[in-house]
Amino acid sequence: MNPLYDVMIIGSGPAGLTAAIYTTRANLKTLVIAGEKWGGQLQLTSLVENYPGFPQGIQGPELMVNMRKQAEGHGAEIINENFTGAEFSQQPFSVTAGGKNYQTKTVIIASGADARWLGVKGEKEKIGKGVSSCATCDAAFFRNKNVIVVGGGDSAMEEALVLANVANSVTVIHRRDAFRASSIMLERAKENPKIEFLLNSEITEVLGDFKVEKVKIKNNQTNQESEMVVDGVFVAIGHIPNTSPFKGIELDPQGYVKVFNHYHTNVPGVFVAGDVHDRNYRQAVTAAGFGCAAALEAERWLNAGGQSLDFVAN
Ligand code: NAP
Repeated sequence: MNPLYDVMIIGSGPAGLTAAIYTTRANLKTLVIAGEKWGGQLQLTSLVENYPGFPQGIQGPELMVNMRKQAEGHGAEIINENFTGAEFSQQPFSVTAGGKNYQTKTVIIASGADARWLGVKGEKEKIGKGVSSCATCDAAFFRNKNVIVVGGGDSAMEEALVLANVANSVTVIHRRDAFRASSIMLERAKENPKIEFLLNSEITEVLGDFKVEKVKIKNNQTNQESEMVVDGVFVAIGHIPNTSPFKGIELDPQGYVKVFNHYHTNVPGVFVAGDVHDRNYRQAVTAAGFGCAAALEAERWLNAGGQSLDFVAN
């Protein structure tokens, strides 16, 4: 007979694995559906300097291996299979991954969000080698360097302002001449002497042997092509929360999982943690914190016999 899990965690980034550390330490039978490419976005980064506890920084993949070992050490079962679907309409919930069905009393959705990339030649292989989607994480590597930020929204303005604190120059490249960014963010960027704007323009290729050295840029009004020598390309064109397989789970207008009282979703017994609901911070440490919170809520919910005392769908 299939075992009945207390908690099933979908996702294996900092949110999912932190949740697993907490649920297993609370003696809850826990299965993590980690995905074939387990570990989340930190598997794509190099040095992480802002995760507390590592004064010299730590490589992103090493941090994830450590988190996984810690969760497994406390008894979490972890399978590197992709989640394909779940039935949340009755208890126990039924979850499918890798062609198999699993039964569980609670679920923590921690499936993350993927940065939206440009999809141009030379971009993918230089992620972590000059191409980034997180200035807060990587700006320090571009001290006195020349960088580009792609995008015309608040994220692009924020990335440009963060980078302007350390870089020599920041060029915001945007495909239109109108912005989605709020006027306050746009004004702040425009007033910063280190930030320049190149409008109606798109990057068509990222060039360089091992790391970013140049980009090809096309003016999409004149079709004229040019090259710019740069050290870094920060892509800030939005994120895609990984929510598509979660039928019955309410999303907000931007497609992120909607959070009810204390990391509950709209379905009692289904909780949420990390970038799949959080579009504001997107940091490893905040995701880990959300994972802890969701795990504690799942534990409380189970201890209350599946009826959280203060659950209010608002
Ligand atoms: P966004 O507002 O959707 O802006 C994305 C930008 O990327 C747009 O300018 C878009 O261009 C551009 N873009 C999209 N696909 C592209 C492509 N393939 N090639 C080139 N450019 C492309 O996303 P966001 O900036 O990440 O913001 C998301 C949400 O978070 C917003 O609600 C924002 O206000 C919020 N946020 C707030 C703050 C803050 O207040 N501090 C900071 C960050 C984010 P088009 O305009 O031409 O479509």
